[in-house]
Amino acid sequence: MDIRTKAVLEGTAKDSQYNSVITPIYPTSTFRFEELGKHKGYDYTRSGNPTRAALEENIAALEEGLGASATATGMAAITTVLFLLKPGDHIVTGNDIYGGTYRLFKDVFAKRGILFSFINMMDLATVKKAIRPATRMIWIETPSNPLLHIVDLEAVIGLAKKKKLLTVVDNTFLSPYFQRPFEFGADIVVHSTTKYLNGHSDVVGGAVVYNNKVLGEKIRFFVNALGVSQSPFDAWLVLRGIKTLPYRMEAHQKNALKIASFLEGHPHVKQVYYTGLESHSQQTLIQKQMKGFGGMLAFELDTAKVPLKGFFKKMKLFQLAESLGGVESLIEHPWSMSHASMGPAGLKASGITKETIRISSGIESAEDLIEDLKNTLGK
Ligand SMILES: *Cc1c(COP(=O)(O)O)cnc(C)c1O
Repeated sequence: MDIRTKAVLEGTAKDSQYNSVITPIYPTSTFRFEELGKHKGYDYTRSGNPTRAALEENIAALEEGLGASATATGMAAITTVLFLLKPGDHIVTGNDIYGGTYRLFKDVFAKRGILFSFINMMDLATVKKAIRPATRMIWIETPSNPLLHIVDLEAVIGLAKKKKLLTVVDNTFLSPYFQRPFEFGADIVVHSTTKYLNGHSDVVGGAVVYNNKVLGEKIRFFVNALGVSQSPFDAWLVLRGIKTLPYRMEAHQKNALKIASFLEGHPHVKQVYYTGLESHSQQTLIQKQMKGFGGMLAFELDTAKVPLKGFFKKMKLFQLAESLGGVESLIEHPWSMSHASMGPAGLKASGITKETIRISSGIESAEDLIEDLKNTLGK
């Protein structure tokens, strides 16, 4: 089935009593047993809930995985995966991963005995060198946030398989519409459904998708034991959002391409980072592993010509806010906002500067958005 069909229908039929076309919300903490030892598949909502199950089936189908667990946030999904490891185990990951993930690794799990190497994941030799006898997992984020560096999924996952390491891909930036890591042999895919999957900036949520049974059982055990599963209301909203994912992704991408092209020609912009531009140095890899470019872009503002102070204030349509993947266009300053938790050293290593500006292009008219940028950037 095409992903557009799956997005609308997969997993959604949960009401056999009235055949409602839309999945009902089951806002109940607990479920009645028919007799001792006999119930209808659910006993307590932390462990399982029909609305959440519908979302999990849907996301698993989109990613072409075996199953999924829907979690309260993206960070809850990532935390769950980290519980697969024990103190002394080592993870190789990028030095430009999502700021919240970096903080969770460095300030929470590293203090509890998990070891990390934050490296340049674009260079296979560097990845190879970082692997030690204690390495258990390679954590991949591609494209990276916000500079859109691409990690070679086939090469890195291939290397991990040879060394019997688990591979996890955070697929938040492209969504399964534009990238499916299981096609390259990944073991686990995580999402912040807060972003493109829900797509309407009205919920926080996450998902862990797995493609083998043993891993799936462990993930489901930890989601329940840790108590990080998603509420039925939030799961229902994400399920509703996903129905239009393919069409939103196309619209996000179209706008991002137009905005990036406009910025690339602007005298007050030093550099533009977008996977859809010919100037992106990894175009061959992009063509090979991505089905599209996505809706995220970033640029270096020439702050000698356009001072940062006042820049955001002039915008009428772009909203100064963190997060991404919603229908409305957002703009932000990674150094002081989304990535501030990395600290100056972490920021430097990742390549983010005080002039880096990130855009999440929404689905408004590209012409209106470009007009807004023109007014703000000046001539
Ligand atoms: C937002 C984000 C997360 C964290 O998700 P939350 O829903 O905010 O907890 C993780 N990874 C990436 C790439 C993100 O953009």
